[in-house]
Amino acid sequence: MASHIVGYPRMGPKRELKFALESFWDGKSSAEDLQKVAVDLRASIWKQMASAGIKYIPSNTFSYYDQVLDATATLGAVPQRYGWTGGEIGFDTYFSMARGNATVPAMEMTKWFDTNYHFIVPELGPDVNFTYSSHKAVEEYKEAKALGVDTIPVLVGPVTYLLLSKPAKGVEKSFNLLSLLPKVLAVYKDVIADLKAAGASWIQFDEPTLVLDLESHKLQAFTDAYAELAPALSGLNVLIATYFADVPAEAYKVLTSLNGVTAYGFDLVRGTKTLDLIKGGFPSGKYLFAGVVDGRNIWANDLASSLATLQGLEGVVGKDKLVVSTSSSLLHTAVDLVNETKLDDEIKSWLAFAAQKIVEVNALAKALSGNKDEAFFSANAAAQASRKSSPRVTNEAVQKAAAALKGSDHRRATNVSARLDAQQKKLNLPILPTTTIGSFPQTVELRRVRREFKANKISEEEYVKSIKEEIHKVVQLQEELDIDVLVHGEPERNDMVEYFGEQLSGFAFTVNGWVQSYGSRCVKPPIIYGDVSRPKPMTVFWSSVAQSFTKRPMKGMLTGPVTILNWSFVRNDQPRSETTYQIALAIKDEVEDLEKAGITVIQIDEAALREGLPLRKSEQADYLDWAVHSFRITNVGVQDTTQIHTHMCYSNFNDIIHSIINMDADVITIENSRSDEKLLSVFREGVKYGAGIGPGVYDIHSPRIPPTEEIADRINKMLAVLEKNILWVNPDCGLKTRKYTEVKPALTNMVAAAKLIRNELAKY
Ligand code: GLN
Ligand code: ZN
Repeated sequence: MASHIVGYPRMGPKRELKFALESFWDGKSSAEDLQKVAVDLRASIWKQMASAGIKYIPSNTFSYYDQVLDATATLGAVPQRYGWTGGEIGFDTYFSMARGNATVPAMEMTKWFDTNYHFIVPELGPDVNFTYSSHKAVEEYKEAKALGVDTIPVLVGPVTYLLLSKPAKGVEKSFNLLSLLPKVLAVYKDVIADLKAAGASWIQFDEPTLVLDLESHKLQAFTDAYAELAPALSGLNVLIATYFADVPAEAYKVLTSLNGVTAYGFDLVRGTKTLDLIKGGFPSGKYLFAGVVDGRNIWANDLASSLATLQGLEGVVGKDKLVVSTSSSLLHTAVDLVNETKLDDEIKSWLAFAAQKIVEVNALAKALSGNKDEAFFSANAAAQASRKSSPRVTNEAVQKAAAALKGSDHRRATNVSARLDAQQKKLNLPILPTTTIGSFPQTVELRRVRREFKANKISEEEYVKSIKEEIHKVVQLQEELDIDVLVHGEPERNDMVEYFGEQLSGFAFTVNGWVQSYGSRCVKPPIIYGDVSRPKPMTVFWSSVAQSFTKRPMKGMLTGPVTILNWSFVRNDQPRSETTYQIALAIKDEVEDLEKAGITVIQIDEAALREGLPLRKSEQADYLDWAVHSFRITNVGVQDTTQIHTHMCYSNFNDIIHSIINMDADVITIENSRSDEKLLSVFREGVKYGAGIGPGVYDIHSPRIPPTEEIADRINKMLAVLEKNILWVNPDCGLKTRKYTEVKPALTNMVAAAKLIRNELAKY
């Protein structure tokens, strides 16, 4: 019985690749140094899989930045502005596309399906001259072979590549990207020939777009593409890997009828409906790569249950055609549990990171072939049982309270316009009130103070004193700038989710549980393992301190339940909605404590609400329903005069605008400046919006200081579609990553622009 891994994290167990990349980019090390680190990482991954007993070991899943960018390099689809003149693409051109250079900005990046991984979006037009320009796939194959490991080279499938592309600048939006298929396939044929010549006997095409709701002409492209490739592929075993959801019935039919394909990979963790499709009919003589080990979570597999699933499939596809696999690439999970020195043994026994998942896959394959490692299986069963019964996981009071919320409605009693009137009487704000999103620059000094406090190098007293001073400085600055609604600057927070997770029960934290987000950037999501509750107030002390420094309204600053959920590794033993309801109740208590402490404006950030949207349309309404409900629960208990803000940092809201309105916040601040005012077009098209709204007036992701006139111009554009009495003026997002030398002049201009327009409005 065979085993397979869809893909593996590249960063290394201690983020070795990150540090090598950044040092190279800073000019502190050479290209050879970087290559050396990469060679070592690849070798250790291949050897690890080989010694675990994995049969189909992937290659070309390593990347210096991103696998889609690697495909762009392979195809030679370099946008003209990077000045590439042909030949093998080197680091210069490659990293310029990824990160920009002194003169040319980077290519756009966007989220890889519903993960937190971001890929570089190919920009294609009718005149791209596709040529085979990076031999990375075949080089990696040979490199592994030289180490004695015969791998299965992985390529981003040609149709997925095109479906994820966008028309290049200047090319009409309506340009049919799929019209490029023949040209793209010509290069794929070269790559395939190369791999064959090097001795490859298998090849894997990742075609995850097959799990989306595709129109029939897009499905047809798969049929056409693989028919065209079939002669080139003859003699090879060809695996089409899908992942992240079930494959719709229509797509399943297309997929399993593809020419020249011998194996299909399915995500059986997120795609339980696919299981029914397989049982309903699977082409005879073909391989099924059954993804039963979750590539997107950190939980140990329930081996007994997976084994039962696999045994059920054996009867359908035949014993020798069933391959045990991961549900997706392991890129989306943490690397190795071995490096977790701070987690206790009980929690550790419940977990499996990438390195442990390899062992699970192999154990399942062995068990299927009659070589069950009884000790391994019974240790796993014991861990599953302990997780089920542990008092650390279950808190009955919380379970009950959360269960009671389902199916009920939670809405503030008074409608938003009446609330805004009541709030205005209390707050007495000018028209076009100014505010910021929360964080102020996190200086080196500030990070040092937090680090030293955590390491017990400074006393709590010293720590509190430093943070108070910082808050005081930030408050004074905002008063000098004449901002209307102030923030405390979030100096005590390392991260907007971790900060709350650390104070809530039911959360655990890793030391090395990093997951690649984009390029060298990694995130370390908290692990939600148990019922969530709030032992004591989390932000009231700091918000009260901040309010005591000023007579102006001070915003209390919280992270919302949906964002906490979406940016954590979540429980797989209960629905996500249930976990979110629990977090909502904890945040609700915090909101009410802030109100009691005299905080009259409270912002509950839901930065990640949009990104949790399920891939398949049929599942979106349900998600939006409980997500929005959870948000409303957090603030349903406050008085009319308490103003609830929320913030979102994605501009791609047009499709969920009604859900955003349904959140019923008093004020929403929202990203807008990077999106050519896409957001405003919704209002232009007549969506009725009566709550307060602050579409960001400048981009905080760039060091550029926006001139007053430019901001004034933006405000005027907003006034063309939104009532003046609901409009707020604020930046796009928090100022955490900026320098004071940028923040001060930018906010000065922002306030000046608001005043300018107030004066103009006063004339009429
Ligand atoms: N309040 C947070 C901050 O200002 C919001 C960050 C975010 O939206 N990502 O940093
Ligand atoms: Zn934001």
